[in-house]
Amino acid sequence: MVTIWQHVPTLSTTRHERAKKVLSNAKLRLLRPKQCLYLSQTQRTFITRAKLAAMFRHTKAVLEKLRHVRLKCRQLPQRQRSTAAKEKALHYNAGQQIHSFTVKEVVAVPDLFLTAVKLTHDKTGAQYLHAARDDPNNLFSVQFRTTPMDSTGVPHILEHTVLCGSKKYPCRDPFFKMLNRSLSTFMNAFTASDYTMYPFSTQNEKDFQNLLSVYLDAVFFPCLREQDFWQEGWRLENENPTDASSPLVFKGVVFNEMKGAFSDNESVYGQHLQNKLYPDHTYSVVSGGEPLAIPDLTWEQLKQFHATHYHPSNARFFTYGDLPLEQHLKQIDVEALSKFDRIDPNTQIPPQPHWTSPREDHVTCSPDPMAPDPSRQNTLCVSYMLGDITDTFEAFTLSLLSSLMTSGPNAPFYKALIEPKIGTDFSSVVGYDGSTKEASFSIGLQGMAEADSEKVKNIIHQTICDIVLKGFEDERIEALLHKLEIQMKHQSTNFGLSLASYIASLWNHDGDPVELLQINNSVTKFRQALKENPRFLQDKVQHYFKENTHRLTLSMSPDDSYLENQARAEKEKLQEKISALSDGDKKEIYEKGLQLLDAQSKTQDASCLPALKVSDIAPTIPITPVLMSSAEGVPVQFCEQPTNGLVYFRAMCSLNTLPEDLKLYVPLFCSVVTKMGCGSLDYRQQAQQMELRTGGMSVSPQVISDCSSLEMFEQGVLLSSSCLDRNVPHMFQLWRDIFNSPHFDDEERLRVLVMMSAQELSNGISYSGHMYAVTRASRHLTPAGDLHETFDGMEQVRFMKRIAEMSDLTQVIRMLPRIKKHVLNPDNMRCAINATPQQVSESAAHVESFMKDVAAKRKHFKAVRPNIIQRPLDVLSDSGPSRKLVNDPDFQPCYMKTFFQLPFPVNFVSESVRTVPYNHEHYASLCVLARMMTAKFLHGEIREKGGAYGGGAKMGGGVFSFYSYRDPNSVQTLSAFRRGVEWAKLGQFSQQDIDEAKLSVFSSVDSPVAPSSKGLSVFLSGLTDEMKQRHRERLFAVTHANLLDAAERYLCAGHKTCGVAILGPENDCIKKDPSWVVK
Ligand SMILES: [Zn+2]
Repeated sequence: MVTIWQHVPTLSTTRHERAKKVLSNAKLRLLRPKQCLYLSQTQRTFITRAKLAAMFRHTKAVLEKLRHVRLKCRQLPQRQRSTAAKEKALHYNAGQQIHSFTVKEVVAVPDLFLTAVKLTHDKTGAQYLHAARDDPNNLFSVQFRTTPMDSTGVPHILEHTVLCGSKKYPCRDPFFKMLNRSLSTFMNAFTASDYTMYPFSTQNEKDFQNLLSVYLDAVFFPCLREQDFWQEGWRLENENPTDASSPLVFKGVVFNEMKGAFSDNESVYGQHLQNKLYPDHTYSVVSGGEPLAIPDLTWEQLKQFHATHYHPSNARFFTYGDLPLEQHLKQIDVEALSKFDRIDPNTQIPPQPHWTSPREDHVTCSPDPMAPDPSRQNTLCVSYMLGDITDTFEAFTLSLLSSLMTSGPNAPFYKALIEPKIGTDFSSVVGYDGSTKEASFSIGLQGMAEADSEKVKNIIHQTICDIVLKGFEDERIEALLHKLEIQMKHQSTNFGLSLASYIASLWNHDGDPVELLQINNSVTKFRQALKENPRFLQDKVQHYFKENTHRLTLSMSPDDSYLENQARAEKEKLQEKISALSDGDKKEIYEKGLQLLDAQSKTQDASCLPALKVSDIAPTIPITPVLMSSAEGVPVQFCEQPTNGLVYFRAMCSLNTLPEDLKLYVPLFCSVVTKMGCGSLDYRQQAQQMELRTGGMSVSPQVISDCSSLEMFEQGVLLSSSCLDRNVPHMFQLWRDIFNSPHFDDEERLRVLVMMSAQELSNGISYSGHMYAVTRASRHLTPAGDLHETFDGMEQVRFMKRIAEMSDLTQVIRMLPRIKKHVLNPDNMRCAINATPQQVSESAAHVESFMKDVAAKRKHFKAVRPNIIQRPLDVLSDSGPSRKLVNDPDFQPCYMKTFFQLPFPVNFVSESVRTVPYNHEHYASLCVLARMMTAKFLHGEIREKGGAYGGGAKMGGGVFSFYSYRDPNSVQTLSAFRRGVEWAKLGQFSQQDIDEAKLSVFSSVDSPVAPSSKGLSVFLSGLTDEMKQRHRERLFAVTHANLLDAAERYLCAGHKTCGVAILGPENDCIKKDPSWVVK
């Protein structure tokens, strides 16, 4: 169940990357060390695949020489790729003493390319796990078992408050300040149901030590000032703090964050389900805080909770990467652990007593106006308590079993629940969940009619009986194990973080994290168990599902007065608090409010904090060599990478010839084209083949702004897939069938996909509201912005809702082959392959034969828009193949203020301003300005003073956007944006402020790129390494005067160059103002 609260929102860049999924769905994704890279140009010669490998070798040799000539500046201080860290760690011995720690166990985990070293701290008993891996993106995390017994949100408020200043670093808010003083690749803090975790990662050794020092001091020696508690937790304060006569209201960051979190029906449901399935201990309360229980927490209780839970004896430390372990141990011992003695933290969670009979319960939620079918908004699911998660093999088996039962169109529950279209999708909580001491499995539907409740319960029961009887096909089990193999081989850029979250729950309950990492042992044991007992899985289903009396059936239905009731309850709570106040108390509240405002407004001295310098940033970028070739006239880019035996294929297909009336249907087309069957395969067989042979195949719409002109953009769809090298022919066979004979005519299948997609979009708004606001605000500023709204904005959400409501989809079905004809057309495409050198030439052969087979379908259509500009794909060759961009020289930006009224208690606010494209000389200044305004002004105004969960400014696609996230304010935040501009124009910022903003820009510019994604920016956007290097040099060169000039020139927006959008609840102020378009 998703009950993890993050300190800073993960502001997703697409609607699909929802913030809440960051940790909860932590799948094991792997990373291999960053390569030493060679300088390259894309090659001008088009060559045959036979010569490819030789060419690569030659190119590298030439370019290697070139590098020294061309890049006179110093190179990135990259550690050599080696197996040194992993091997060195193997030399530790059990019993060995290192810096007050004792080594308990050393285990090589070859499947994950790491060595695990388990230790304990002698004096305090603190536990420690180090994963030595030759990956420079080092990670640290410390987690505490935090087991609240009420819903005041004490662990969550504590998580916020410890980051507000500590003994050695007493300045306000060192966490946010460090964001700008470091090159971290990740910094955050998480409150789960039963633990609190503080992770960071960085590729820089000095930075690691700096951040470690700040994190250790924060968690072990925080100031926990009363003022921090008011700001982060809750407080009573005059609505306008400077006006003693304005009414008293509740304020506080966590208070608002949780109000926002519970505005989402999926979170409400998940929280209730967990609370009611484990009713006897800590899982029965809301660790994040129930908005109306939060005001019962006192500052004293907060400090007490810290003293008992944030102790080394209750701590688990995890480090990961290629930095030496000894250094970490020494620093952790000296700066923190040596100052403590051992205690018995007594934080164990007792087993949940098993029920002797099943239970049923019901809850209500707010109606969803975006629901695909307003008459069907009920959720019902059955949740089963399973065994203890510290039994690693049992947990492994149950999680595989869960996938077999629910995942994909071949799963029995998919067939029984989804395909009859009783609901729009599975319930938001579905499948195996190992985030509590005893795991659970849940199955049910959302978007269903209340009248169907009995039917759904019967189907669930019947399906379980059927599984016990029939079991699973061998091929499905193989497909699942294949998927696991791919997940272990695929390299992500945040492997350390994935590991930390993967082991967190089991370790929290004293399970063995090293055993959990040895995934292949579990696979072997699993195969053995199946061999010995063919009914192995069926027996589990019988035991854990059919005969399990600890199960809860929970239904949820919308209540029209839900929000009203909530508002009334809050009002009552407020009255209760206020009526207990004397005049003296009120005076004190007013004064404290002023003090807090004063503290928040003061310029703060952060000089106690460690910091990297701009000179610590590498002056040049590592260069990614790519090679251009062609297959049957279709351009193909090759990028050699250490992909661990996986081959990654992408193809970009242009939309330039697609008639305008079909544009709105493109996202729908993308989401169904790989899921309706192709060639001789029906959709079930297709799904099976995709699971057995690939790591997934997907298609997504693309709007790519040009680097040089705001009037130009490329429009297309991107095909992506990956597979193990042995399966390359199978992967291309699947694409071949999709190109040559996709199936579109199964209306029933289409309806299932449409419902699921509409439901997903509707659920996503409360997570990605700021993205929808930014997209809408930018809509009328550039031609690309307009199409972006069509594909990814509120317009698309509403369109999908309309489609989902249609009783007859034949009209939609007629559109799909029309789109296919234009899009899946070799006349309009280019491809890219990322693979190891050995696999590159082999893959080239398969691309070529694939192209040959689909070339017969090649059709030449005329572009719909008259102005098409060609940009060479190969920067050195104007005559070679090109990207075809739409140019709209007559485009007139226009001003528009849009308000979407939605049933949320919080707002998402955005203002966007048209500026300049990537290659423009002022672009770098605007990037630095956005970071500086965020850190030095907007964060303070919007989060600290305003009480929003997040807010700031960012540059992207030639547009400068202000945004706020889960914001109690609406139009007031717009004036905060404007005051931010005034602040920037005054120029009262220091060189230190500028340098910090630059560090922050560089930490995202230099964030690691996975081998599977190397070379993609040039492939997709034509963004060459030379352009990136020029941008980099401009970033370094940005001065105080440049920032003033950028603010003056671009942000004092004239009415034609900016747009505004707000998503939020009914708003009187906006209603009265005719300048707003209300949707
Ligand atoms: Zn939080």
